[in-house]
Amino acid sequence: MNTSHHWINGQKISEATSYFDSISPVTGDVLARVPVADKNLLEKAISGAQQAQTAWAALSPMERGRVLRKAADLLREHNQRLAELEVADTGKPIQEADCVDILSGADCLEYYGSIIAGDRGAQIDLGNNFAYTRREPLGVCLGIGAWNYPLQIACWKAAPCLAAGNALIFKPSEMTPLTAPELGPIFKEAGLPDGLFQVVHGDAEVGKALVEHNGICKVSLTGEVNTGKKVMAAAAGSLKKVTFELGGKSPLIIFDDADLNNAVSASMVANFYTQGEICSNGTRVFVQRDCYNAFLEQLTKRTEKLVIGDPMDPATQIGALISEDHLTSVANACEKGVTGGARLVTGGKRASDLKGAFFQPTIFADCEDGMWIMQNEIFGPVMCVTPFDTEDEVIARANDTPYGLAAGVFTRDLARGHRVVHALQAGTCWINNYNITPIEMPFGAYKQSGMGRENGWEALEAYTQVKSVYVELGDVESPYE
Ligand code: NDP
Repeated sequence: MNTSHHWINGQKISEATSYFDSISPVTGDVLARVPVADKNLLEKAISGAQQAQTAWAALSPMERGRVLRKAADLLREHNQRLAELEVADTGKPIQEADCVDILSGADCLEYYGSIIAGDRGAQIDLGNNFAYTRREPLGVCLGIGAWNYPLQIACWKAAPCLAAGNALIFKPSEMTPLTAPELGPIFKEAGLPDGLFQVVHGDAEVGKALVEHNGICKVSLTGEVNTGKKVMAAAAGSLKKVTFELGGKSPLIIFDDADLNNAVSASMVANFYTQGEICSNGTRVFVQRDCYNAFLEQLTKRTEKLVIGDPMDPATQIGALISEDHLTSVANACEKGVTGGARLVTGGKRASDLKGAFFQPTIFADCEDGMWIMQNEIFGPVMCVTPFDTEDEVIARANDTPYGLAAGVFTRDLARGHRVVHALQAGTCWINNYNITPIEMPFGAYKQSGMGRENGWEALEAYTQVKSVYVELGDVESPYE
């Protein structure tokens, strides 16, 4: 059987006193056994990162950027191999992984490798004296990842963190531990000194031990809202900085002047890409009454044509859910949809002709805001469609949720598009598209869906602290003799 490894101080470490299995969502087979980090290994990872970070921070941003840009090129060279490994671990279709997951990580490394040399502080004129500000790194940061985009999440955290002069300790989800350690040798070949990027495996207890450790300065978590609350509480003991990318129940609003074809395409991407296992998905689809039936008709026809099957087959559009347990939770959610009175238009069941955790793309229509399926994140291929009449009504209904990750608006009236988006309580919004996440654009949430931003210039703020320096050019004016 394959054994996976931690990546610590530039080396693979597979020895451990306990292991867990990484299971294929398709075959149920064990893909690899994975070592669990014990207390000694965590100490080794943190002290190695601390030692490496000081010298790394002392390099010029240009020098650090060069390493990240080289890592981006190397990552692209490994795209196919890593995409296949990601597919094995997550069950997502190869037609997605080979053009999104790894390449988005490479884009992120290239972006921060490019912009970091342009980061500058301010000079503040104080008359006879002056002050200036410097953006300085925090030290050793911790990244904790979810299972839906494992390597992309690792890169989205590593790139701004390292560019700013920090070290990163990354703990992948136990469900998908295989690709993050593969970044280690890529960084090493690119010239990143050992210790700056460490990968440690383990469960929530390992994550908690890291969050509580005094050697960690900041935590960036991608995960569920409840995990965010626990991590925030644990980080409060030492007042660590936190960045959270958490769950959502985002609205996608389709006005009756929208291009119907585009609106349907975006709704499908917003619900069925990666089998619906995407935090920012537009799972509450509000459709203006005049185009409601036409929208549903085209949506249903196109959804029923989606190809479910072997994730490694390039024709497959819907892969396997992450696990049998998760499939059960998605199926239970669909049960609640039916018993709660929503109209099941298509799907709602596992794809029983296939071995593995495959679930049919599902559409519920005539949904009402109070229904369980309209209020809770399902994290599977389940779309809830509901009619609306007026702009004011739909804004109020869209905002009526504790979540605030993302939102979309489809309309040919761009003034309305901007007006509505400005009124929506969501950190990431799209007009006439959905789920497009270029690295240049900050990504993050309002309300309980998270705090802080990934990507864009804003992520650098999350990995740095500002130092103000006052410079005296004259004598000290002393009130004392
Ligand atoms: P979880 O919150 O269950 O886990 C996320 C990570 O946190 C895992 O590595 C997990 O370890 C770890 N963890 C769990 N409990 C603790 C703890 N007490 N202290 C420290 N670490 C802990 O999320 P999932 O992996 O199930 O991912 C799905 C969720 O992630 C969904 O809600 C989704 O919306 C959200 N998500 C948000 C994104 C965003 O950008 N906003 C993007 C992707 C997903 P282990 O798995 O080993 O238990």
